[in-house]
Amino acid sequence: MSPVFNTLALSCILCFSTVCLVLTDLAAATYACTNLTATLGTKNVLESGAQYSITANGTWSLFNSLDQPTCIVYPASTAHVQTAMTAIYETGSKYAVIAGGHSGMVGYNSITNGVLISFEMMQNVSYDASLDLVTVQPGVHWGNAINYLQSFGVAVLGGRAADVGTGLLLGGGISFLAPEYGWSADSLKEADVVLVDGSLITATATNQYHDLFRALKGGVNRFGIVTRYVLYPVHTGTAADKNWYSGLIVVVPGSLSAAVSNASAAFVRENIDPKASMMVIMNTLNLTAPDANIAYLFYHGASLPESIFGAFFSLPSTFRSLSPLSYADIAAIVDGSARGNGQQFGAAAFLGDEATFLEGYNHLVNFTTHYESQFAASFMVISPVPRSQWTVGKARGGNAIGDHECGHDFYPLYAAGVLAVLDDVSAGFDLLLSQVQTNSGLPLFINECDVSQNVFSTYPGYSTLKRTYAKYDPTRFVFLPSFVPLLTLYSSFSVRNTVGPVGL
Ligand SMILES: Cc1cc2nc3c(=O)[nH]c(=O)nc-3n(C[C@H](O)[C@H](O)[C@H](O)COP(=O)(O)OP(=O)(O)OC[C@H]3O[C@@H](n4cnc5c(N)ncnc54)[C@H](O)[C@@H]3O)c2cc1C
Repeated sequence: MSPVFNTLALSCILCFSTVCLVLTDLAAATYACTNLTATLGTKNVLESGAQYSITANGTWSLFNSLDQPTCIVYPASTAHVQTAMTAIYETGSKYAVIAGGHSGMVGYNSITNGVLISFEMMQNVSYDASLDLVTVQPGVHWGNAINYLQSFGVAVLGGRAADVGTGLLLGGGISFLAPEYGWSADSLKEADVVLVDGSLITATATNQYHDLFRALKGGVNRFGIVTRYVLYPVHTGTAADKNWYSGLIVVVPGSLSAAVSNASAAFVRENIDPKASMMVIMNTLNLTAPDANIAYLFYHGASLPESIFGAFFSLPSTFRSLSPLSYADIAAIVDGSARGNGQQFGAAAFLGDEATFLEGYNHLVNFTTHYESQFAASFMVISPVPRSQWTVGKARGGNAIGDHECGHDFYPLYAAGVLAVLDDVSAGFDLLLSQVQTNSGLPLFINECDVSQNVFSTYPGYSTLKRTYAKYDPTRFVFLPSFVPLLTLYSSFSVRNTVGPVGL
């Protein structure tokens, strides 16, 4: 089967105007939506109404809620996703996929004049004790999965915020368990994947689709739509098993930001114990806020070793909460469900000393204070990725990401009422990304990156990734602008699967 670039599209192309282009995208989407409503019914396909509005406006970043899809498909099964992709492929409609909705890439999980596939009706989690495997549908949020699984004494490797969804797996995924048990993506044993033409395959580390299996782990939405994840769990214990000393929060004022940054740098450089983990969040705009700096410290054991966490302990704090906790307790500490502001991610990956960390922090402070009126807050998050994290996954088929040492992630949170990133601010953000230290050879962590960062090209297996993409999407359906004959004119105008990293 091949995409039909119908005569309606061609007649619009003859107009050679932007208006025609928009109409043509809309026409293709309308055609797909009409087809899907007839096939799947009005329970699974909505073009308006309360539920439509909740989904379309429910993205974590307000910027993505500004897109309003022509229709939203709510698949209840893999077969429904196949039906949806078949219709999208045949009509040449643009489309987007949303799971937990937490992407900070503008336009990555939303679409205008296209079909949005939302996984709200696919939220099952199950545990098979005899196989010791967890099966997760793509609409699940990690907090719910971990709550459900704790009665079996197991957990999945999600993220560090309860509300985040399964898209995290496809970008790699960092949890507090990552140093000991690897990237969240590396807990994948098997995935059902609907390819762009609607065909279904099951990929594992060892079957004929092992190349796709590897590409999914870092390739996010570019290789197909995952409708079932089979995951290796971690035996974390039940809610009664307080196996971690953690959940603690150290809060220090912004005047101590340099000290916080230095403590983080020392942890990243010196810690080799995979049972130890941490995440530091520094607010780079509201420096005098009482919670300007927060350090989340985490240890798989009965206490936080002074030898690892001592630099954090010595920081003056305004609030501390340190105690033995279960993994379910820890997974509930960061909720991350707040909505209503435009958000933007950006990230750097680097190896560095204290000065490197501080330099990144200062660049972000300069950026946010320069455009202060645009922002409600802005955060720098420090996430160490120790060697142990990426070695674990090698035994399970590896991933597309490869080596990585530490990330500075940036989260500018735009002020209420800011509905778009001004050109000036966008230029400032580009400058910031060019200023922060990204050591050559280190891959970027796509879950935290901006759309402008050419993430795939930073992966060590970039050329393999391109070959895998060509194999599973031979017509380049995901990337082609809707109007093939005008590819050269409009190749940067849009790609069919929303926006996002290109380069495949
Ligand atoms: C508050 C907050 C906390 C975070 N904490 C962490 C953290 O601790 N660790 C970490 O690793 N990351 C973290 N992230 C980043 C997060 O992992 C990414 O934003 C991730 O993409 C979110 O996945 P999602 O399903 O919630 O989002 P979505 O926006 O729904 O999906 C993200 C991308 O994946 C695609 N996608 C989703 N499901 C599928 C599917 N089934 N098939 C194909 N494509 C699909 C979507 O189209 C989209 O492009 C955090 C983000 C936020 C906002």
